[in-house]
Amino acid sequence: MSETNIFDKAEILKWLREEDPQALSELYAEADGRRRQTVGDAVHLRGLIEISNYCVRECGYCGLRASHRDLKRYRLSREEILGCATEAVTLGYGTVVMQAGEDYGIRTEWLAKIVRRIKQETPLAVTLSMGERPVEDLRTWREAGADRYLLRFETSDPALYALIHPPRGAAPSDRIAILKTLKQLGYEAGSGVMIGIPGQTFESLAADIEMFRRLNLDMIGVGPYISHPATPLGSGLWRRNVDASAQVPNTEEMVYKVVALTRLVCPNANIPSTTALATINLRNGRELGLERGANVVMPNLTPVVYRSLYEIYPSKACIFETASTCYSCLNQRIASIGRSVGSGPGGRVQ
Ligand code: SAH
Repeated sequence: MSETNIFDKAEILKWLREEDPQALSELYAEADGRRRQTVGDAVHLRGLIEISNYCVRECGYCGLRASHRDLKRYRLSREEILGCATEAVTLGYGTVVMQAGEDYGIRTEWLAKIVRRIKQETPLAVTLSMGERPVEDLRTWREAGADRYLLRFETSDPALYALIHPPRGAAPSDRIAILKTLKQLGYEAGSGVMIGIPGQTFESLAADIEMFRRLNLDMIGVGPYISHPATPLGSGLWRRNVDASAQVPNTEEMVYKVVALTRLVCPNANIPSTTALATINLRNGRELGLERGANVVMPNLTPVVYRSLYEIYPSKACIFETASTCYSCLNQRIASIGRSVGSGPGGRVQ
């Protein structure tokens, strides 16, 4: 495989369509080698705290969408969140990631105070993933000490995005613009896409990978689209017909191809082996992601009583594991592939 033309869209497209196992194992070996050279053998653990499942939006793919009325809603208290952060420190994690639906019940100043407390009282890096909040909120949280922000653009195909991610009111939903703002504010910016969204073409997935590079992202998370029957995309109510030959499958192999290509196109980004990947291959999906370009995993710290309610998609992996069993399981999985657990915040290497 030539190193230079991996950066070319035609080459990315060719690899996305590649099915020869021998060629793919060469791609994976190349990505694994690049990962070792750039970010090393340490696997960084980011403790995930799902702080609220309230959401004002109507994303066609996501089980947290506002009109999913059967879902019981929750929001963690300040004490519960700080308890999770303490647990992260005890378990030796370098980062906590607070994620939620787009929930304006999470008041800007309330979250800023929590960020300030965590930054003052622990050595943790703080990552937020609160959806498309106004720039003043993003600035306030950055000033409070938040280090990183995750906002997937989901797909770079404008027509598909418009179908699956309706704007809220009159304001357009422009996640690419928000990612640029996040960088200007001094956040490490993370984004990513779902793989195998109904209506997603190979062409558009190749463009997504090019977009990762163009945005110079610090973190890139990709995972399989998993159909949720209580959503319009999952039920087939919203659909975009594309040629069967153009449709990206939401298979495990497709995810590995995208993880590997992402590592080659963005060599020093932090790339997680995602929970969605573990969900479609509980046995060793996480390990295979780590062996094909990824260098991060995100153990769940959310109190177990709330876990099943953060149902972005059904049958999410590990929803009954407590923080400490999750930690020992991941530790063992990381050791089993000859890698080590990273220490410290594990920010982007330059
Ligand atoms: N409100 C935040 C967090 C959303 S959940 C935000 O919008 O950024 C985090 C990610 O889960 C989403 O960005 C999406 O890529 C992923 N996700 C949501 N529904 C999914 C599904 N049905 N299958 C796979 N991934 C999904």
